[in-house]
Amino acid sequence: MGKKIVHMGIDDTDSSKGGCTTYVLALIVEKLFEKFPGQVRFLDYPNLVRLNPNIPWKTRGNGAVALRIETSSSILERAQNLILEVVEKNSMVSEGAQPAVVFLEGSLTKEALSFGKRVLFEVVGEHEAKDLAKRLKARVYTLSGEKGVVGAMGAVCNPLTEDYTFELLAYRTPERRGTPRQVLPESVLKMDEAMRDVTFNNIDPETSRILITPRGPDPVLFGIRGETPEAVLQAACMVEVGEPIERWVIFRTNQGTDAHLAVRKKVCQLTPHTPARVLAEVRSEPKTIAGGHAWLLVGDETGCIDCMGYEPSGDLRNAVLKLKKGDVIEVYGGVRPPTNDKPITLNLEKIRVVKLAPYHSLRNPLCPICGKRAKSAGRGRGYKCSRCGWRGYGEKERIAVERELRPGFFVSSPRSQRHLTKPLCRYGKEKRGEPPRLVPKWWGLGKPTYSSW
Ligand SMILES: [Zn+2]
Repeated sequence: MGKKIVHMGIDDTDSSKGGCTTYVLALIVEKLFEKFPGQVRFLDYPNLVRLNPNIPWKTRGNGAVALRIETSSSILERAQNLILEVVEKNSMVSEGAQPAVVFLEGSLTKEALSFGKRVLFEVVGEHEAKDLAKRLKARVYTLSGEKGVVGAMGAVCNPLTEDYTFELLAYRTPERRGTPRQVLPESVLKMDEAMRDVTFNNIDPETSRILITPRGPDPVLFGIRGETPEAVLQAACMVEVGEPIERWVIFRTNQGTDAHLAVRKKVCQLTPHTPARVLAEVRSEPKTIAGGHAWLLVGDETGCIDCMGYEPSGDLRNAVLKLKKGDVIEVYGGVRPPTNDKPITLNLEKIRVVKLAPYHSLRNPLCPICGKRAKSAGRGRGYKCSRCGWRGYGEKERIAVERELRPGFFVSSPRSQRHLTKPLCRYGKEKRGEPPRLVPKWWGLGKPTYSSW
């Protein structure tokens, strides 16, 4: 019987009280290997696809997952049932999750790929996702509601052919979930030192806070983000933990790539709950406001928008406060809806200083006789020299003031970065093209182990 290529997407199996869609996928991977040994070919690493991060009604990071496999028709039917069973058993439906699973056969059409992009930039509704599924002849399964369909379709339709990274996620055993995570901080610092070139956002440099462990009751013990599968596995093996690891999986993902900020917009095109990247001019001097946040007004030929650097410290806020009227910058962030007393606001994720406005201070002229700087002789009366007694008229001297800022990127600190935000250390490491070949070992039960391939 002929082989079939199948894309499977899952979303919204978790709630704020626990669970994690990546964990459900990790369970599915194990089951597929166990029940159909050698009969299901994985065409890619499991994909962890982050969607528009500005949608407020999503749990945590707004991530959905996808699997891309090749198998025979007879296995496919059994595999589907197995997958649906795992999703049903492991979804937090009683806590409000509305899981969806999508199966799409064949290759991704232009329309599918375009949907995959749109869920990164826009607010897409369930109806639209379901209509597309119908047109593409995808099979959609939902439990308790249809909120998950957008994410599941979004993951299926995004094969991560632009820049991508990897994340190794290690999961806790059920009895440990909800208790403090036993990850030895010193081992993370050591790992970061050794693996800094090929991994990212392990720690926050400013506060030394460990960033590989999430907070909350979800089953993730730690996650290591990096440039290659080898790097994240090697790094994971250096992390010392004081609790058992149930399983681990390496995901390929759009995290750390700025995928949501690929399209540049004009100010008049900005709408609430969408990401924004705008080339603009600073229209007023920045201010520190209550809470230590930095406020800035920028504009282009289509309008003005308030921007906020929401951080009591950090490079981004500090850079914002050094901007001056007339500077040309590119602002990156998410658009917050208007409130009673405030219009829409751009929450900054990063800025790029493009061009600094010339900035001058005015000084009295030098005395033409002895060269000492002259003093004002009173309004409308010119200048006088206190050394040689010269009196006369002259032009004020414009002196260029050295700016404290340089052109370039300023990004929020790793501790407040969103999953999709490309950190500074990733510039120049962008990857392109087809999914890489799978390494021999990209998931496992128990602690991850590394031996060079
Ligand atoms: Zn003089």
